[in-house]
Amino acid sequence: MSQATANTLLPRGVNDANFQQAIAQFRALLGEENVLVKDEQLIPYNKIMMAVDNAEHAPSAAVTATTVEQVQGVVKICNQFKVPVWTISTGRNFGYGSAAPGQRGQVILDLKKMNKILHVDPELCTALVEPGVTYQQLYDYIQEHNLPLMLSFSAPSAIAGPLGNTMDRGVGYTPYGEHFLMQCGMEVVLANGDVYRTGMGGVKGDNAWQVFKWGYGPTLDGMFTQANYGICTKMGFWLMPKPPVFKPFEIKFDNQSDIAEIVEFIRPLRIAQIIPNSVVIAGVLWEASTCNTRRSDYTSEPGATSDAILKQIQKDKNLGAWNVYAALYGTQEQVDVNWKIVTGALKQLGKGRIVTQEQAGDTQPFKYRAQLMSGVPNLQEFGLYNWRGGGGSMWFAPVSQARGSECDKQQALAKRILNKHGLDYVGEFIVGWRDMHHVIDVLYDRSSPEETKRANACFAELLDVFEQEGYAVYRVNTAFQERVAQSYGPVKRKLEHTLKRALDPNNILAPGKSGIDLANPF
Ligand SMILES: Cc1cc2nc3c(=O)[nH]c(=O)nc-3n(C[C@H](O)[C@H](O)[C@H](O)COP(=O)(O)OP(=O)(O)OC[C@H]3O[C@@H](n4cnc5c(N)ncnc54)[C@H](O)[C@@H]3O)c2cc1C
Repeated sequence: MSQATANTLLPRGVNDANFQQAIAQFRALLGEENVLVKDEQLIPYNKIMMAVDNAEHAPSAAVTATTVEQVQGVVKICNQFKVPVWTISTGRNFGYGSAAPGQRGQVILDLKKMNKILHVDPELCTALVEPGVTYQQLYDYIQEHNLPLMLSFSAPSAIAGPLGNTMDRGVGYTPYGEHFLMQCGMEVVLANGDVYRTGMGGVKGDNAWQVFKWGYGPTLDGMFTQANYGICTKMGFWLMPKPPVFKPFEIKFDNQSDIAEIVEFIRPLRIAQIIPNSVVIAGVLWEASTCNTRRSDYTSEPGATSDAILKQIQKDKNLGAWNVYAALYGTQEQVDVNWKIVTGALKQLGKGRIVTQEQAGDTQPFKYRAQLMSGVPNLQEFGLYNWRGGGGSMWFAPVSQARGSECDKQQALAKRILNKHGLDYVGEFIVGWRDMHHVIDVLYDRSSPEETKRANACFAELLDVFEQEGYAVYRVNTAFQERVAQSYGPVKRKLEHTLKRALDPNNILAPGKSGIDLANPF
């Protein structure tokens, strides 16, 4: 029998006797095999990629639940002993905190075993799933049942899941790529153990839970995302009908300075839904690394990679300085008309080399991009970690207007700061309707303490300088959540802490998530 020992890491403010009692109660509730306390059992919950010490995000235990009643039981025990609990669903939040707790000493509530696909409606194009359902599982279900539906998912598609990704307001690459927009109906276990359903979910016998978001009165779904007011145990969302024709394409642009014109070219097409999906504008190093290029193939010099080498890589790998990926969806007639509009606009722009599926064949990175845009899971994007090696990664994700001058300014700013710290700009813009998720992978060698320190300083400077320029990130890794919460101002924080006091007075649900922590009152 595994025992919590004298060496057990205790949660903040919990003494050993109380923690042992909590562990004993978890075991009685969940069974011995679902309560993990030994160091070797906890390794998967402490594999962080952030530039801080693992110890800062070490869990005190991990528990797995399989039913809503068990989740309610966990919450009850946590309240009794004031044990903080950090919930994960599939736990693949790589580069944002992985499966580790936001603060040292929290108990992980791992919901991967709650993995039932509860409902898929091929006519209304909706789904209702439990937290542990992976995108691969849903994809297989859709294939097995031959359903005319298309998924949208984050790049770690096969192993990640819709519920966790949407709770962190992640993005995908189809026309349904803004995942929280497509969410419809949540079931949430509150800190007091109540089971609350959003939207139409509270009405007995109602069957509109997955088709009408708003219900009646305040609409609270958003309040539970990127937050610590509840544990989501079911989520509904909309699926895209599979179009008869899918036409992916790439446009390569040769110069880094082309970014402003690219954005001006894309924006009207995107807002008018001529191009309906989350277009990606990927920089050269993103492209090179996802098809397995290593920095060491080109240079052994420390520091940032020179522009001359970037040009060389571009030439060797036949890449653009910027590479636009988009797709058209619909009937043949619709696609033909929209293709004419896109190619006409490109002709007017007078630059950019267009590549179609027929021309690209099975080559990477076109292949995995086309898969992401058509809902076929793959793991090709993990190639990013080849570039520098050493497993360090933190996403810096400022939001920008979809305006050429803004995107140009942001990429130049980010490159300057990264290069100053001896790191590379490995970035892409993901085009929302009117916004850009500017996503930069701050890649560094985590096996080098010196480089890790530099990456930490670089990330802090990125946040500082971008804030001075009026830009903020939409999501951040758990090491920097408090810092980012500050940039959104005191009124928002005060309100969030007021809600926390009302809903979770014992501060047991994920304290620290998005900077909300009653022990660090605002
Ligand atoms: C190479 C690479 C590419 C990536 N590309 C993308 C991308 O395209 N788009 C994107 O969005 N991300 C991307 N990511 C980041 C991340 O891996 C994905 O967002 C992934 O989907 C998140 O992990 P998950 O789905 O397992 O969610 P989880 O890790 O299960 O959950 C994420 C967070 O949501 C909260 N949460 C989870 N479940 C619950 C619950 N039941 N109740 C309350 N709160 C909960 C927790 O705070 C948790 O930490 C990428 C990462 C890598 C390494």
